[in-house]
Formats: sequence, C-alpha cells, structure tokens
Amino acid sequence: MIIASWKDILGQAEAVNKLKHFISSGKLNHAYLFMGPQSVGKHTTAKVLACAINCEAKGCGKCSCCVKITRETHPDVIQVAPEGNFITIGQIREVQREVSRKPFEMDSKVYIIDEVEKMTAEAANALLKVLEEPPDGVVFILITSNLEGVLPTIVSRCYQIYFRPIAIDVIIDEIVRRYEVDKDRAELVAKISRGIFGNAIEMLNSERRLKRREFVLCLAEKLKRLDALGLANEANCLTSEVGNYIGELKLKQEIELVEVEEIVANRAHAARFKKRLIEKQKRERGKEEFRAFEDILDIFSSWYRDVLIITGCLNEDLLMNTDCVEKIRIFGKGFSLQKAQGALEIIQETKRMLRFNINRQLALEVMLFKLQEAV
Ligand SMILES: [Zn+2]
Repeated sequence: MIIASWKDILGQAEAVNKLKHFISSGKLNHAYLFMGPQSVGKHTTAKVLACAINCEAKGCGKCSCCVKITRETHPDVIQVAPEGNFITIGQIREVQREVSRKPFEMDSKVYIIDEVEKMTAEAANALLKVLEEPPDGVVFILITSNLEGVLPTIVSRCYQIYFRPIAIDVIIDEIVRRYEVDKDRAELVAKISRGIFGNAIEMLNSERRLKRREFVLCLAEKLKRLDALGLANEANCLTSEVGNYIGELKLKQEIELVEVEEIVANRAHAARFKKRLIEKQKRERGKEEFRAFEDILDIFSSWYRDVLIITGCLNEDLLMNTDCVEKIRIFGKGFSLQKAQGALEIIQETKRMLRFNINRQLALEVMLFKLQEAV
C-alpha cells in the first residue's frame, strides 16, 4: 500500500496539525526532529511532509512527484540511514557536498535522516555544521526513537515534533474502517503485530507473513515430539523461507533500479543516484532479513507468552494469538509458569545474539534444542 497523504497517518493528530500549519503558512523550518517510540509513523510522516513541500497540490498522494517520494525513488528526497550500526562521517560528508547543489526536479530538497542517534560523534558534528548554516531550499527531517543519543546542540537546531504510541483499540477500529474486515480478524492482526499499525496492514495483506506465523506456532506446539534431525530440518525450513523472501525482494529492487534510469534524465546525476540506491537496497535487504528472523522469534515469544497468561490465570484480554486459544490451553496443561518464563528467556537470548554477526540458522537450531530441553 502506498501511503502518501496526511489522512493515512494514524493517531498522530497533534504532529500532523503542526506540520500542516507549517505548510499552509508557508513558513517551513529548515530542520525538524521527529521523536517518539518506534513504528508509530515517524518515517511515513517524513515522506508525507516531503510530498506536501514539493507537490503542487501540497501532497495529493497521486501525482508522479508524490508517488516517487513515497516509493523512495525521488532524486531530491534523500534518505540517510545507518550503514551497519552507525551513520558514518562518510555519509554526512556526502550530504555536505551535495546539500548546496540545485535540486534535480523540485524547488527544494529534503533530507530524511533516520535513526540520527546512531551518528558517530564525527558525523554528528559535521551535520551540526550543516544545520548551523543551512542552504536555502533545503529541509532536514531528523528521526529518532532515542532522544538521549542525539547531541543537544542538534536537538536545539531543530523544530521538535513528538509522536505518541498508538492505542491498540485505535488500530483495530482503523483496520475495520479501512479494510472492511470483521472485528475479530482486525483484533487478531492488531495484537499479533504488537500494536504496530504498519505491521498489522502488512499482515493483513501478506499471505507469506501469515503462513510464517502458522508454521512457527505449529512448530512451537509440536517441538517436544521432534527428534534432533526433525529440529534441524525445521530450522532449515525457516531459514530457507527467509532466503526466498530476500531473493524476491532483490528481484523487485532490480526492477526499481532500471526505473531510476528512466526517472533521472541527466546521466551524471543518474549514476550518482543509482550508486546511492544500490547501497540503500543492500541495507534494506540486510534490514529485512534481520526483521524476518526477529519476526520468527517474536512469534515464538507470543506463543509462550500466551501460555504464561493462561497457566498463570492472568487477564485473557492480553492474549496475542486469539485464534488459537484452545490449542494454547491444551499445550499449557501441566506447564509451569517457570517453564514458560524459561522459554521466553531462551528466545530473548537468541534475539540478542541475532544482533551480532552470527550464523542465523545455527542460532535458530540451538534455540530449538534449548527450548525442547527447557519445556
Ligand atoms: Zn502530489
């Protein structure tokens, strides 16, 4: 789904109204800092703001300018995100070099810098210099979910916009309204996506994501009955599924790359833009692969978390997998709170390890063995 207009941003009326006011009054700041918890729409809002700044209709969501911005292929809306664990000095130097160049297609350029807290000290100081003397016609949108990690001198150069967590009921109502699904299904996708609206929508539309969930929940249920070979096979299946997904993503990215050549007419500009896009795509694949493994672990967690709720006689409104409560009840018979807690700890530990450069299939396998022993 392409999200390109203000009305698509959920539960952030205050932030949206402020930004709309900047647009309608024509008094844009040269730098904004979007802050708030993860996955509440900061990045989407940044793109919508970029559309509003540049589209003739102030963000119609339909014209070629808006579409390019939302698909992240617009040469004048430049996205910067951590390369690996950091935003490096090299990345900010590139911003410094290019910031005063004229835009290719629009009147102004927009820089969207994600996870600004991950800038190295050098990079942060270099960015500060740019923010101190911003060229005309450039708007910076800095995004963070960890304000403590951002230099106060950078914070003070930006207009600060706060984003709030979104209540699960708001998400459920919105899914029902937008997609005309029944409330039970809306509640299920909202809960299993942990109240992250974007994920809930993705889940609603993604057969793959639902199949993955089914596979993992089924595996959690039958884990005890599998032998060593069976466990290794299951880990292999999960890894291959992620591999296929990344393969498909790569194909899509290759098409996107071809499209770029058609979008940017000037050859020198196209080469530079293409180089940046290739890097971005590589980062995106890395991120998606990580997210997929994290997702697998989160699904495992949701199972044991629900077991814990049922065996501990806690409030069943807190259950995530509302479509398989009976299965969880049967599984949880004779299961102790300590066991469920132990399983959750094993999964958390694996999740921490995923952040390091480890063999992910092996990590999954080890986790499955440990879970089998623990439960
Ligand atoms: Zn437009």
